[in-house]
Amino acid sequence: MGRKRMPRVAAVFLVAGWVVCGRFAAAAVTAEPVASYVLEARLHAKEKLVHGRGQILWRNATDRTVETLQFHLYMNAFRNSESSFMRELSWRGRYRRRKPHEWGWIELDTLRWGSYDLLVTARFIHPDDDNELDRTVLEVGLPRPVGPGDSVRLNVVFRTKLPRILARTGYEGEDFFFVAQWFPKVGVLEPGGWNCHQFHRNSEFYADFGTYDVRLIVPRDAVVGATGLLMEEHAQDSVRVLRYRAENVHDFAFTASPLYRVYTDSFGSAEIRVLMQKGHEAQARRHLEAAKTAMRRFGEWFGPYPYPVLTVVDTKGRAGGMEYPTLITAGVLFGPWLPRGLRTVEAVVFHEFGHQYWYGMVANNEFEEAWLDEGINSYCEVRLFEEEYGPRGNLLDVLGQRLSDLELQRMQLQLIPAPDPVLRKAWEFVDSQSYSVNSYAKVAVALTTLERLAGEERWLAFLRKYFERWRFRHPHTEDFLSLLREEIPEPAYKGFLRQVLEVPGHLDYGVERVSTHREGKPLGVDFDVAAAETDSAATPREGRSSADTTWYRSEVLLRRYGEFQLPVEALLLFANGDTLRFSWDGAERWHRIQVRHPARLKAAVIDPEGKIPMDLNENNNSRTVEPRRRGVWKLVARWVYWLQGMFSLASFLS
Ligand SMILES: [Zn+2]
Repeated sequence: MGRKRMPRVAAVFLVAGWVVCGRFAAAAVTAEPVASYVLEARLHAKEKLVHGRGQILWRNATDRTVETLQFHLYMNAFRNSESSFMRELSWRGRYRRRKPHEWGWIELDTLRWGSYDLLVTARFIHPDDDNELDRTVLEVGLPRPVGPGDSVRLNVVFRTKLPRILARTGYEGEDFFFVAQWFPKVGVLEPGGWNCHQFHRNSEFYADFGTYDVRLIVPRDAVVGATGLLMEEHAQDSVRVLRYRAENVHDFAFTASPLYRVYTDSFGSAEIRVLMQKGHEAQARRHLEAAKTAMRRFGEWFGPYPYPVLTVVDTKGRAGGMEYPTLITAGVLFGPWLPRGLRTVEAVVFHEFGHQYWYGMVANNEFEEAWLDEGINSYCEVRLFEEEYGPRGNLLDVLGQRLSDLELQRMQLQLIPAPDPVLRKAWEFVDSQSYSVNSYAKVAVALTTLERLAGEERWLAFLRKYFERWRFRHPHTEDFLSLLREEIPEPAYKGFLRQVLEVPGHLDYGVERVSTHREGKPLGVDFDVAAAETDSAATPREGRSSADTTWYRSEVLLRRYGEFQLPVEALLLFANGDTLRFSWDGAERWHRIQVRHPARLKAAVIDPEGKIPMDLNENNNSRTVEPRRRGVWKLVARWVYWLQGMFSLASFLS
């Protein structure tokens, strides 16, 4: 059922205000650079090898003195079948058929601080498991401690062998390269020490902000997409040299292939580039339009996209999406035959673009608290679909088949077993399905529920404040919850979200029983008739005196079947058209409503406006006195129509 929307005029003013304020605010906000890179990467297409060299400038932004540095060497996850990443792949058997040249790795040839060779003390460490064979985290000792505020400038030379595409990284055939997680990347020094996890099957990334200045040397015929803005480009002999620069980012990825077709557009001051695979040209416009739509909506909600460029890459091989700063991938399903009403291109572009905000700018630790980007971002995706295409059939609307993005998220919650809490390290979930249902769908549906309960305007103002406070920083779950408490103080909402995050459970309220019977004459002895007559839950209708009214006693039993708790509302519908509304805090396992009313009870409905999409079982949300299922929703629909249109009905607290 329709959500309450603010009047259109008010919305326009609000949005205009946001956009204007956002411009000024965004201009002033940048990241404190902690880890910056000046690199040169020479791609040897035939050998599938990247020769890298350059400098890493790292600053100790904590109050703690350190005697070691830790680096992610992500590409070593693809080194052999014994890395933690490969061991965690339940279908790793497939990779046993990989040929030796199809694996990937990274070798550090030089790592120096001034004249000191840091590789002398280098060792692989395994902070997450005891897998001695995993080589994705390297620790080096420093010749002297680095105190708070001090900087280290390192010289680095490395070789990165690309794997045949795996986890969205590597090569396919002779002429497609997607190069991500390809350089030695400093971990994040936190007040408690280094946070530098191994690469896992389900984990994504965590890094500090900085400036990336990267010179790429690629085959002369390659079309390139990369993080940041292209500063200069020239061809010499058989290669092309391109220099990219990106500020306020925490990663750098690039892609090169002679087969890309390039399409461009712009939104505000940002240039949009779409790189399409041959044969997918027909979808280019959809990619561009989806990117512009996402930029517009996110700009309205949280403030404008602050980077000068966005590159959208239609990758080869597996379709789907992935996010890197200012560069996202959005592969095409079904090539040119994708019907307009199947909005998978839009879904991927919306989602991956959203990550520029949730991960790109608000940079939580994806290893440990993936919900802070995946969950919030999936909520934004649901919201974007509803705003753009309406609440019904916004994801799929083909040949009478309709599905909304919210329904899809709910279906995942209903159908896929996910016996973990949301708050769990990415590699500690029972499997990838549980990781993704918990990190994405569960949070998306829970936050949509909170938006509807708290009110769209308030909820969005809270989320915008959270974005502004944590942009270019690293928030944790408690930061989200404490701001929520400040901005939306109802304890039930925070309590609900905490349950969603910490308890592997679900939410389900229902109407267990309804009954109604005509009140007879009092029977028995010592009965006080006068007292019985004042026990009325509703005033008799006009024109009828209390004396000739027939009274009915009705009873409704509401139940909480799930672990999660939320305040809920119940609507009672009577034979004469009357409705009564009751609120229940939802805390106990059941709640009884008893009513004396001059008409028979026909039905009872819990959550009549559908404000709680988190309630996964809708079948028990209504019950009629006569066993008649279909009619009740008609009654409710009529009631909601009248409610929204003309009447405001009295509400009753139980
Ligand atoms: Zn995502």
